[in-house]
Amino acid sequence: MPLPVATIEVSVPLPLEGSFHYAVPESLAAAVRPGIRVLVPFGRRTVSAYVLGCGGAPDGQSLKSILELLDDEPLWSEQQLAFFRWIADYYLHPLGEVLKTALPAGINRQSRKKGDASVLTGGRTIRTERWYRRGELDRNAVSLRGKSLEILAWVEEAGAVSAAEVKARFGDCAPQLKKLRDTGLLLAEQREAYRNPFAGVTVERDLPKPLSRHQQAALDAVAAPLDSATFAPFLLHGVTGSGKTEVYLQTIARSLADDRTALVLVPEISLTPQLVHRFRARFGDGIAVLHSALSDGERYDEWRRIRRGEVRIVIGARSAIFAPLERIGIIVVDEEHEASFKQSDGLRYNARDLALVRGRQEGAVVLLGSATPLVTTRHAARNGRLGYLELPERIGSRPLPETRLVTERMTAEQPLSPPLLEALAHTLARGEQSLIFLNRRGFASFLACPACGAQLSCPNCSVSLTYHKSRSRSICHYCDYQVPFPCICPACGEPELREMGAGTERVEHELAARFPEARVARMDSDTVAGKGGHARILDRVARGEVDILVGTQMIAKGHDFPGVTLVGVLQAEGSLYLPDFRAAERTFQLLSQVIGRAGRGELPGRVLVQALQPDHYALVHAVNHDYDQFCSEELAFREELGYPPFGHLAALLFSGTSETAVSDAATEAARLLVELKVRLKLRTELLGPAQAPFYRLRGRFRRHLLLKDADRSALRRLLTAYRKERVTPVRVREAVDVDPVDL
Ligand code: ADP
Ligand code: ZN
Repeated sequence: MPLPVATIEVSVPLPLEGSFHYAVPESLAAAVRPGIRVLVPFGRRTVSAYVLGCGGAPDGQSLKSILELLDDEPLWSEQQLAFFRWIADYYLHPLGEVLKTALPAGINRQSRKKGDASVLTGGRTIRTERWYRRGELDRNAVSLRGKSLEILAWVEEAGAVSAAEVKARFGDCAPQLKKLRDTGLLLAEQREAYRNPFAGVTVERDLPKPLSRHQQAALDAVAAPLDSATFAPFLLHGVTGSGKTEVYLQTIARSLADDRTALVLVPEISLTPQLVHRFRARFGDGIAVLHSALSDGERYDEWRRIRRGEVRIVIGARSAIFAPLERIGIIVVDEEHEASFKQSDGLRYNARDLALVRGRQEGAVVLLGSATPLVTTRHAARNGRLGYLELPERIGSRPLPETRLVTERMTAEQPLSPPLLEALAHTLARGEQSLIFLNRRGFASFLACPACGAQLSCPNCSVSLTYHKSRSRSICHYCDYQVPFPCICPACGEPELREMGAGTERVEHELAARFPEARVARMDSDTVAGKGGHARILDRVARGEVDILVGTQMIAKGHDFPGVTLVGVLQAEGSLYLPDFRAAERTFQLLSQVIGRAGRGELPGRVLVQALQPDHYALVHAVNHDYDQFCSEELAFREELGYPPFGHLAALLFSGTSETAVSDAATEAARLLVELKVRLKLRTELLGPAQAPFYRLRGRFRRHLLLKDADRSALRRLLTAYRKERVTPVRVREAVDVDPVDL
């Protein structure tokens, strides 16, 4: 008999610091455990709270009692709770909100009524009925005829059948089934069904491939820590097509053989049916997939399957790092350089970083895979903090494509340069496919007034509106504000605005005009809307029904286009001049990815990169496929300015609808930080406050303050002290971003 607990410590899903204590009535005491939720009175409200631990209430305090238990089984193990505590502490975020973020929406929204089963054993579930043969037929006691006998014989032969199958075969036979059940010959069992996102899709089994020398070396390196359940983080560095996924698959197989599980994190954009298919073909079922297209119900079902230990592999986008998976043997972070592993509001966590934290707690192997690792990751591998595994060649030794820079200004009238047009014509003539990459959607970048020079911009956001010809509108890509086209100049009344710059829609038009015989398709967030839109376009390309595909970064990532032999990049410098110290790194990564799309099949590939300023190191090294050289130059730049990995960053973000209130709040915050810095004798560098890159977004003004320090613990001390003393004005929203990614 466990001793009944008298008090518990809970955390509430509200933006409040610290935990709270409650008394437990005797009737509930035996069932209270860490990791379950309880209903508690909180101020004048009733909220569901998470039980962190038992006992530990301060003496002499009279405590309120909890009202009821919301779960029979803990939602998390103690180890998972420890992970969430770490997160709350590191990201300076209330634990209750961390826990809430970690749960699927279906659970958070579920409010339990009296008598309902709990999350893990019931809730919003679908049930199916299956019939089994149970008793022996005693012909003297029961007389069966016709349909009843047939049903009995059939169920016996099949072992177990679903109610739907019985109905399909015998038509409506409720009276016969009732009789068979009442006489004890058949047993009807209610089973819980999961909403299965794979329903109806079967896959052909795929066997492990004999590994290349480098793949084998990688597998050998992870084998020992994997088998001894020792935390071991690695960078797996290899270009697309070098066989990284095969290494993941075989490492995972080894983990499963040790009766441990696997967690695979991928950027949302590469969480395609293709990828999931490869895992299912290798491992069959027992895989949970978590991505944003799941309904709340599906997400909730996947979560429960994982929690109950019915799943051995979880594949998902960033929030899968919170999956309640146990006994993790390996965590894979594919495309570890992707910025989308960072959550940009609420709990601003980075799933790539958390993979290392969780891996340490679980004693797991962590594989960070990329063709273009973050320079911080490569730096850690050079320093020995990460193991370094390299796959230097493409499988089948397919050469990287021949790549050339063309100095060319992209104009609205002529987005495609003569050399690129010529290459396109050749490729078409040979019946091969081309890819044109431009990281800007819409028709014109913006509309400008030929008389006064004013640009048509968004009244809610500090950006210009993008002109979309097919919709006859100018649209804000941030808040969706729209203006019909044509429109007059808002500043001087000039009746006709001029189209400036070009987007993917314009390039598509241009290609259709230049090559009327070619089948041109476009892939960007305007054309893939809706479930499966993505896959439809990719399928058409795969079946050879598209000659030229135009697209944004969506075509750069995660897809294999074996028939593509020509890649054209327009305005390659487009992302270089963003006000972000990672602009060069981002450009290098994106460009390398696009270049890697050419020549993935039997035929060699060719790439033409159009840029205005072709001597920038990010462009030059991407074109020469020279990651190491890029990395060295980028690290030198980072070191000079004290940016990561040589310094650590945190940002304070202020936003609100009143410009003065936001500005005053930021100034006041900076003053407090300076005071604390002096008091704590810290050397933290304070940058700002300044206008955030999008100074106005969806009607809110935004300012930020950046903190930089070579010593991470100093930065933490400063922020902790700040949060203790800081009182944010009511009209302003303030957030801390530890290790910010988008500045
Ligand atoms: P990456 O993840 O680095 O892009 P993949 O693992 O997808 O690379 O491998 C690229 C292609 O080569 C895939 O079609 C894969 O099936 C194949 N492949 C990978 N490893 C081997 C191997 N050892 N032998 C034969 N084919 C392989
Ligand atoms: Zn807007």
